[in-house]
Amino acid sequence: MPAADVISTAPKPPLRVLLSSPRGFCAGVVRAIDSVERALALYGPPVYVRHEIVHNRYVVESLRAKGAIFVEELDEIPDTDAPVIFSAHGVPQSVPAEAKRRNFLALDATCPLVTKVHRETEIHHRRGREILLIGHDGHPEVVGTMGQLPSGAVRLIETVEDAATVEPKDASNLAYVTQTTLSMDDAAEIVAKLKERFPKIIGPHKDDICYATTNRQEAVKKVAHIVDAMIVVGSPNSSNSQRLKEVAERNGCPYAVLLQRAEDIDWERLSTVKHLGITAGASAPEVLVEEILDALAKRYTLRIETVTAAEEDVFFPLPRPLRDIAAAE
Ligand code: SF4
Repeated sequence: MPAADVISTAPKPPLRVLLSSPRGFCAGVVRAIDSVERALALYGPPVYVRHEIVHNRYVVESLRAKGAIFVEELDEIPDTDAPVIFSAHGVPQSVPAEAKRRNFLALDATCPLVTKVHRETEIHHRRGREILLIGHDGHPEVVGTMGQLPSGAVRLIETVEDAATVEPKDASNLAYVTQTTLSMDDAAEIVAKLKERFPKIIGPHKDDICYATTNRQEAVKKVAHIVDAMIVVGSPNSSNSQRLKEVAERNGCPYAVLLQRAEDIDWERLSTVKHLGITAGASAPEVLVEEILDALAKRYTLRIETVTAAEEDVFFPLPRPLRDIAAAE
């Protein structure tokens, strides 16, 4: 009999699991996924989606199986009457302009909290302010926010060092905005440096980090220092998931790992762990957390506790065209 088929009758060792709450899907992700599902139901496949609707392989593959076609740019889409959906991360203004030129039925699933940052950016620009965007180079949200204004109008600040060395044209007429999924602690340090150097800089009350990113990081902070290891369920290209892993490490967790599926668990690495934290990025579905719990339960006797940092009841309605059609049915 091959080793994999041997069923152990030995008692399973105990494992205490601390589940961070809130974790997983946020209101913006639910709205974006629902937009694709709704468009598929209303118009039938195919539905084109520019960029991964949210950064999660499982979600993308599930939607692909239902008839969504994912592209990176609109020029990959043939002339079509099918809907074209923009992802939750937001898009530069050139994208809806191009969709209009090609007569696409465009549906914008940009998270309203990202759209809010776009509007702040436009207002600063209209008021003649030079804008600093705190964020990660190349992330689609950053590309989208910078793309709300003409090239050069927004400068990217990625680190405290960038904040310490940036030389604005007019320090008395400066504003900042931030990516929504940053580490709260990193962003606070960068904002503090900017305020120290440019006391007149204008910005949001603190930053533009969204409620979901904030709550998930706060929940990880409550768990990180009492566990031997932390599993963050999420995709490597998910900014908020990566930040959760960093937050766990910085708050005393000796081993934090980002996993997409149960099959990615390094059992050898977990063999000495007695207290395990689990969280999930805002784009990771709860079914993947359950899959990981099921895999753990096959090897350990689990004692599961939930550690809650905040209650969430945020809901965003679907993009207007989908809402209106649904209402008319
Ligand atoms: S993580 Fe925040 S900004 Fe991003 S989709 Fe969710 S609620 Fe919106």
